[in-house]
Amino acid sequence: MIQLYIPLNFLGVIYREIKQSLTDLDKMFVLMEKEREVRDAPGARPLAHAEGAVRFEDVSFAYEAARPILKHVSFEIPAGKTVAVVGPSGSGKSTLARLMYRFYDVQDGHITIGGEDIRTVTQSSVRQAIGIVPQDTVLFNDTVEYNIAYGRPNATREEVEGAAKAARIHDFIAATPKGYATTVGERGLKLSGGEKQRVAIARTLLKDPPIVIFDEATSALDSANERAIQSELKSAARNKTTLVIAHRLSTVIDAHEILVMESGVIVERGTHDALLAAQGRYAQMWALQEVQVTPAAL
Ligand code: ATP
Repeated sequence: MIQLYIPLNFLGVIYREIKQSLTDLDKMFVLMEKEREVRDAPGARPLAHAEGAVRFEDVSFAYEAARPILKHVSFEIPAGKTVAVVGPSGSGKSTLARLMYRFYDVQDGHITIGGEDIRTVTQSSVRQAIGIVPQDTVLFNDTVEYNIAYGRPNATREEVEGAAKAARIHDFIAATPKGYATTVGERGLKLSGGEKQRVAIARTLLKDPPIVIFDEATSALDSANERAIQSELKSAARNKTTLVIAHRLSTVIDAHEILVMESGVIVERGTHDALLAAQGRYAQMWALQEVQVTPAAL
């Protein structure tokens, strides 16, 4: 009986291991699929000035040739400043982030970091320079510690905990029986959207990249959670060159510049005060949001 039990148990372990590897392989293939979209130029060198400004110069882009998504988009995020993008669903906001991270190469125009066209440098150095907090963070089926340290695998436990504290996810982790050794993801502890974003913020804080992209979650968080995430985001973005894709206008008030996108075109741009004074599209969106927010806030 024991003889039979051990091999079966062993098979169970192997089965789980294979399943785990297959899931990770799935993810890897998805990533590789993305990788294939762009190729480093022969002899490409690493990005030299990651701490410089990010510029989109007359950028046009289409996922499929027949359907242009971005049309002649130009803007600059000065080093250490924040530019926010707002606009209706499907207007191309997240596409800006994907291009900046070099998931795809632009078909027209240039994206430069510190003056260098990102198509001419290595893709890995561009990704090394950027921390992304995506709309929907996918966590690995591994420990919380692994997930936070992913951007800097040699980080010490103290550093991981420090980042988790700053992202205000430490108390939650510490309250679980296994703490930082808790497995998260599909086959582990399920985290809420807000908690997953906090893990991604902690990961970004630990990676400490010069450039940060924050793609705000579309799903509504309760207002206390939303305010908390916004303040954590502010600490993650402090002194970093930051692109914020905002679904709630309250996130963008302090931005150096706000871009209003519609159908792949920047239709308005300016600071929050200037855009309100202009009484255009942004002012309309703001008024609409105020109306929507007020009943809930009462
Ligand atoms: P949301 O506010 O809903 O996140 P968005 O403004 O960020 O929207 P994008 O995700 O940039 O919009 O998408 C812009 C357009 O590009 C959409 O019409 C979308 O359907 C299309 N699109 C996005 N990704 C792909 C893709 N991989 N292949 C083809 N079309 C795509």
